[in-house]
Amino acid sequence: MKTVQIVGGGLAGLTLGLRLRQLEVPVELYEATSYPRHRVCGEYLSGRGSDFLESLVPWKILVEAGARRSVGLRIFRNDRKLRNESLPRPALCLSRHRLDHLLADRLTSAGGRIHLQTRQTPVAQEGWVTATGRQPAVQEEGWRWIGLKAHALDLSMGEDLEMHLTPHGYVGLCAVEENRVNVCGLFRARETIPGLARNWRNWLGGKPGSALHRRLQGVRWDEDSFSSVSAISLRPRRAAAQAGVRIGDALTMIPPLTGNGMSMAVEGGFLSAEPLAEWARGNLDWPTCCQRVARNLDHSFSARLRWARLLQQSILHPLGQPLLWHFASVFPYFPQLLFRQTR
Ligand SMILES: Cc1cc2nc3c(=O)[nH]c(=O)nc-3n(C[C@H](O)[C@H](O)[C@H](O)COP(=O)(O)OP(=O)(O)OC[C@H]3O[C@@H](n4cnc5c(N)ncnc54)[C@H](O)[C@@H]3O)c2cc1C
Repeated sequence: MKTVQIVGGGLAGLTLGLRLRQLEVPVELYEATSYPRHRVCGEYLSGRGSDFLESLVPWKILVEAGARRSVGLRIFRNDRKLRNESLPRPALCLSRHRLDHLLADRLTSAGGRIHLQTRQTPVAQEGWVTATGRQPAVQEEGWRWIGLKAHALDLSMGEDLEMHLTPHGYVGLCAVEENRVNVCGLFRARETIPGLARNWRNWLGGKPGSALHRRLQGVRWDEDSFSSVSAISLRPRRAAAQAGVRIGDALTMIPPLTGNGMSMAVEGGFLSAEPLAEWARGNLDWPTCCQRVARNLDHSFSARLRWARLLQQSILHPLGQPLLWHFASVFPYFPQLLFRQTR
């Protein structure tokens, strides 16, 4: 049997590796860093991907690692709060520090070979899968996107996700393992923001007078968990328009507001595994394998990417945000409708 080579050991690459091992396909994975390591992520996995993930790692083991379920959502805008929402299906909350490490250990135990601290040039050639994370773009439509995340320690918070909308972005608060709350924000700016490595607490901590600022005032941060990312591209991309097999953010990135990017990474791993296994067994040639993977991915992702883009653009528009807020206040099912359409 032929070997599948995966470049990138984030959620997409690791779940693909594990799924291929379930199908008894030899796997080699190249990861530029080593585990555990923090990543900029809301750490709120919501969507079909959580079922796929649980078919690879039983819920009991995820719980032992500290995973929680979250069913509620509280949305804030400046100092105002929308009513509490109960979401149609629970999300899985666990830090990427824990989750990726757990998956990497399981992949090794399942017979996959991981090459740590090995930066491999991704290639669109036979047998190679690109799972290297976001495709960078310095600016999009004149905006620069910046992602920041850090863990707040001993912050008392229930199981609900908190989403705080600001004029320049949004910040999500999600309880993960061991009394940690992941505080993660996406912001946009016209120019580069100097001194972010020093000033990140001001960005994540909200403006004085806001509900976010009150929530995080005096909080103790785990400084080592701070991470940042820039040059984020949120333009939807179709798999059929790209060469080779690409999964996760390397294929396309859904706006983080949806909390569905990790799910898409896991789903991408699953949707590409069967055609790749057929290629490895010699039953499919490589171009047909790539076409099947692309068809599966585009079929699953196109509609939600369109909805998510519309939602993100509206929420960051000076008129769109108050309008959406008004709709969500008047029509109780509106947030749930948006939730369903973006997964
Ligand atoms: C601000 C922000 C908040 C978010 N919040 C959420 C959320 O709440 N819920 C959610 O579901 N999603 C969220 N996301 C999105 C989510 O983090 C991504 O969709 C997800 O991490 C994609 O996984 P991936 O495996 O494709 O990429 P990554 O997790 O980025 O992994 C890519 C891996 O490839 C490695 N790599 C890169 N290049 C190479 C190379 N050349 N050779 C070897 N290895 C390489 C990297 O080291 C990394 O380990 C958020 C994203 C941002 C920016």
